[in-house]
Amino acid sequence: MKKEDIFAIQQLLATPKKIAIIPHRSPDGDAMGSTLALFHFLLKLNQQPIVISPNDFPNFLAWLPGSETVLIYENDKENCTKILQESEIVFTLDFNALHRTGEMEHVLKNLTVPMVMIDHHQKPDTFATYTYSDTVFGSTCEMIYNFISFLDKKELIDKTIATCIYTGITTDSGSFRFPSTTSTTHKIVADLIDIGIENSEIHNFLFDNNSYNRLQLLGRALQNMRVVPEFKTSYITLLQKELDEFHYEKGDTEGIVNYGLTIKGIHLAAIFIEHKEENIIKISFRSQGSFDVNQFARDNFNGGGHINAAGGKSYESMHETIKKFEKLISKITI
Ligand code: 5GP
Ligand code: MN
Repeated sequence: MKKEDIFAIQQLLATPKKIAIIPHRSPDGDAMGSTLALFHFLLKLNQQPIVISPNDFPNFLAWLPGSETVLIYENDKENCTKILQESEIVFTLDFNALHRTGEMEHVLKNLTVPMVMIDHHQKPDTFATYTYSDTVFGSTCEMIYNFISFLDKKELIDKTIATCIYTGITTDSGSFRFPSTTSTTHKIVADLIDIGIENSEIHNFLFDNNSYNRLQLLGRALQNMRVVPEFKTSYITLLQKELDEFHYEKGDTEGIVNYGLTIKGIHLAAIFIEHKEENIIKISFRSQGSFDVNQFARDNFNGGGHINAAGGKSYESMHETIKKFEKLISKITI
């Protein structure tokens, strides 16, 4: 982060202010972990922060300290708009373009107060006054740890803040297995453990929270998996009626896409999930090696993300979407 930006933010935080902190739509562990870590940190600086999420967060993150204070824009647009318009600083975390906040974009783009973006996605837009963007980092939470250090306030990281930071580092690194995991990641985590986080318990909260229905849905997803060995690809489809059959709840399909990559010789995995209410097929892509799913999602499926993990959407039917996908993979080198 640029020295002059750090200095400017220090000046801004020198007096108490109303501060809105925004994660991306359908927030994941990193989006919730980073926004709540920053929330608790700003409270300790005697600021008046509030986290406003574009839509609801999944149940498996509801144990995060402070999640009960998070406002959901979609559930209370009027009040959230008012709070956003009264904010004196806005932090946008774990996303790089305002459209990732859905309808909230229209409120955010008309604000004139200083905005601070902290994010690790490729090709960030330039909407923020201060941008701390670096794709080297596996998670925004790792960057929040650095951000607090840049402000010379590392001593303020307590167990609560550390717990939030650890959550995002863990979920975005696939529990420390993705290539973005560095020695620095582990050094930060070592520090968080020394601060007193209960790392094993956090893993339990995050991953041992399955419902019977979710496991049954996982079973269906795995049975639906198709493997195309000649293109080193596997993909899963889930129709709305299948989600309904297993009483789908937000978060239930989290991580399922990764199973495709565990097949020997598979370098591209995808999952296509029909969401009838929004009239879209939500897509996740994962790759192993150099195949850039961020570019693939941007070029073909209205999306983006990182080189090895990206997402997007299709406005066509499942049948048409799969036809398009199969045609695309037959033409590229994976
Ligand atoms: P997931 O597949 O877990 O939803 O997302 C993987 C990565 O791609 C995340 O970093 C997420 O922020 C990004 N991503 C997911 N969906 C979209 C999308 O529709 N547009 C863009 N630009 N990025 C996305
Ligand atoms: Mn992230």
